[in-house]
Amino acid sequence: MEYKNLIAGDWSETVAAAANINPSDTQDVLGYAANSPAEDMERAIAAARDAAPGWAASTPQQRFDVLDAIGTEILARKAELGKLLSREEGKTLPEGIGEAARAGQIFKFFAGETLRQAGEILGSVRPGVGVEVTRSPVGVVGLITPWNFPIAIPAWKIAPALAYGNAVVLKPAELTPGCAHALAEIINRSGLPEGVFNIVFGTGSTVGQTLVQSRHVDAISFTGSVETGSAIAAACGAQRKKLQLEMGGKNPMVVLDDADLETAVDASLNGAFFSTGQRCTASSRLIVTEGIHDRFVAALGERMTRLRVGNALDDSTQIGPVVDERQLEKDLYYLDVAASEGGQVLGGQTLQRSTKGFYLAPALVTETSNDMRINQEEVFGPLASVIRVADYDEALVVANDTPFGLSAGICTGSLKYATHFKAHAEAGMAMVNLPTAGVDYHVPFGGTKGSSFGAREQGSHAKEFYTKVKTAYTLA
Ligand code: ADP
Repeated sequence: MEYKNLIAGDWSETVAAAANINPSDTQDVLGYAANSPAEDMERAIAAARDAAPGWAASTPQQRFDVLDAIGTEILARKAELGKLLSREEGKTLPEGIGEAARAGQIFKFFAGETLRQAGEILGSVRPGVGVEVTRSPVGVVGLITPWNFPIAIPAWKIAPALAYGNAVVLKPAELTPGCAHALAEIINRSGLPEGVFNIVFGTGSTVGQTLVQSRHVDAISFTGSVETGSAIAAACGAQRKKLQLEMGGKNPMVVLDDADLETAVDASLNGAFFSTGQRCTASSRLIVTEGIHDRFVAALGERMTRLRVGNALDDSTQIGPVVDERQLEKDLYYLDVAASEGGQVLGGQTLQRSTKGFYLAPALVTETSNDMRINQEEVFGPLASVIRVADYDEALVVANDTPFGLSAGICTGSLKYATHFKAHAEAGMAMVNLPTAGVDYHVPFGGTKGSSFGAREQGSHAKEFYTKVKTAYTLA
């Protein structure tokens, strides 16, 4: 399989190719992606620029039909797309199929939004004057996506971009070109005019950077690491280009003495380890009060060690492999650092399976303090640490003592603490008796502090990023 660029409706010839490797079985090469030069990106941007005015002038019905067709095909093929996703990214088959379905649902949601777009008509403070507030497309948007949700994240950027009348250039992650290519094929046969959607494969430093720096791109939406996001922010700031960033997390899960133990263990097990811990909303800091600490650690440790780690495509697998060797080394490095700083590590050993892959047993690091590196820096693997605290007040201080602010959870039977936590957790998303990861597709997603920048993604709030506002005054 060759993953070619789609530019102005044409699948361009690949220049060179980068192998797409199955992390559950490194002998299995799914295909080869174009390793495009900067000129390919420039051609894609020019194609989007040419197509933008036509799509901006399209009717709500035209936009609805395109988005609905894309959503319908994704949902009809969710099993096949989910399998592709699990094979190239390593999350389990149910997780892969669930993510593919979510991508379809996102397109369906934004198909509906095309018919609900409205402005406002207001009276003026001046007599005889009318005021209208309307929204129009931003123009050409550049979308840069990571590997950990290789179909859902492109979907939640592309769908609102198209729904609100923009032309798109997508630069997907190098590690997961297969899902991005499958999505591009579906979009290309949806009836969307040529050039409105373009995809360019290649490295961040070549085609990603060209997209960010282009004077012909009006807005950038990025999901990825803090380092890359910060560099993109500097480049966009210099050009005053509209920008939306979703970056890391160091998400706290607070467990109070009055929590239901089973609920707390279920939520923590899911939040910390499912999807191999490779979710920006993963629960990486478990902040546990004294009275439940030992029972919680014993129960979670026992459940964690029973998790079945294996090939993402095996029915019995609960935790798939780490995405690649670099990430596996990073996970192991942080476990070493945690141990050298005094943490007690349970699990965390590399595992052999019948196929060669990046298998790592989930790890729980106990007896940690919040100032340890394992609690301050994002790792992005199947590992979580436990921080013992005296009471709710200390738990909240520790939960908020982080540069990040994406998701924050609490397990408690107390309405008082749950209500206080929802109001005072410094995070864009707060969860009560639920995992920090796992969100709905029709409501805003995003964080505060170092996790996010710019307007929220998803739900009808997405229009804040994908439209610009005009205020018109008319003398009656
Ligand atoms: P990760 O560690 O998850 O791979 P990155 O931030 O490196 O996170 O990558 C996220 C996305 O950003 C990928 O599509 C990557 O190619 C892209 N990217 C990396 N560097 C740059 C850059 N300098 N400019 C634009 N995009 C980049």
